[in-house]
Amino acid sequence: MTAPYLLAASTWRTVESTPYTVAVLPWGATEAHNYHLPYATDTIQSEAIAAAAARLAWERGAKVVVLPAVPFGVNTGQLDIKLCLNMNPATQAALLADLAHSLDVQGVHKLVILNGHGGNDFRQMIRELQPRTRVLLSAINWYKVVDPSRVFTDLGDHAGELETSVMMHLAPALVSPLDEAGRGVERRSKLTGVREGWAWTPRRWTQVSADTGIGDPALATPAKGAEFARLVSEKIADFLVELDAADADDLYDR
Ligand SMILES: [Zn+2]
Repeated sequence: MTAPYLLAASTWRTVESTPYTVAVLPWGATEAHNYHLPYATDTIQSEAIAAAAARLAWERGAKVVVLPAVPFGVNTGQLDIKLCLNMNPATQAALLADLAHSLDVQGVHKLVILNGHGGNDFRQMIRELQPRTRVLLSAINWYKVVDPSRVFTDLGDHAGELETSVMMHLAPALVSPLDEAGRGVERRSKLTGVREGWAWTPRRWTQVSADTGIGDPALATPAKGAEFARLVSEKIADFLVELDAADADDLYDR
């Protein structure tokens, strides 16, 4: 029996006999990541972080299972970039409801979405779905679990130093030489509120970045990626262990 915490690699014999409590759903996107990272970057990262965290949690006795990753994210701001494949929030909500229903009737009553794409936002979907399911729903953006400034110098948020380092660690064969990458320069908004971060409008990607990246990957290294992935995976493992043990009807201090 190998890795019973990875559903895609498990057999019915293993699954039938394992009392899983927590399902982890990696959720990525299919989109351009500058000139040096693959379209599956967000999916590869969320799947790998989920697997690493689940392994650590499993070793501590938590009955977690990582589901196959969803490879499509919200990319309405990138529809004019070739083969950025958008899945609308309403479609994601329908998919989430179907998966939660499967888990509900099969007795797995805790679900964690492990999100790897900035355009995905599951909180409103969860607010809508939670009253209709017995599955306790939660969501984590893996790239926000640990303060990136602990490891990285350039804090751009798309195909920059963070994502490039993590991909160099996880999937080095899929990372092109950094001298092929653009610098990921982000054009600033003319709107003061947007620049200062207290007003928001979705970024029109082709107008914000020339190379589809936001953040300079130049200082990325596999060692930084390994360090960040380890810190993140350990914290998520702690969450999974707590969630495994938690009573969904008694989640708050008295
Ligand atoms: Zn990404």
